[in-house]
Amino acid sequence: MKVHLKQIPPEGLHLEGEEDCLIPELESDGVRCAGPMQYQLDIGVAEGSLWANGSLQQPVELTCVACLEKFIHPIKVPSFAVHTELRGPETVDLSPFMREDILLNLPAHPRCDAESSRKCKAAIKQGETPREDRERRAAKREHDWGELNKLKLGKK
Ligand SMILES: [Zn+2]
Repeated sequence: MKVHLKQIPPEGLHLEGEEDCLIPELESDGVRCAGPMQYQLDIGVAEGSLWANGSLQQPVELTCVACLEKFIHPIKVPSFAVHTELRGPETVDLSPFMREDILLNLPAHPRCDAESSRKCKAAIKQGETPREDRERRAAKREHDWGELNKLKLGKK
């Protein structure tokens, strides 16, 4: 995302919009952009530097480490901030800064139930197995007592 310095008035500029995916090479790692990146920025020029403050959001499709299902996760950069020296007279490319912040906020071990109300299938399974085990054991115990009672009855 290139900012044209000539278009920035002395009082600064508010920018909102969408940009193409900045992390397309991560698709081979199972991280796929599920839409454009959205940004809201305040940009200004002061004393030979450019500053920018704002927020970014990039929806991505990730694979849950627990249940291996794909889910959409919005990578949020709530306080994106750049302060960079102006090197050329024309434009400043903010994409490398945005890219870095998006990568920093990418979950290393994504879980489909980390942020939403969604229930991870793996978590549900883990929660149910012990109860099923208990029920099966309880049923077996009843069966055993039943056999024992029959035995006792037979003796009488
Ligand atoms: Zn999951």
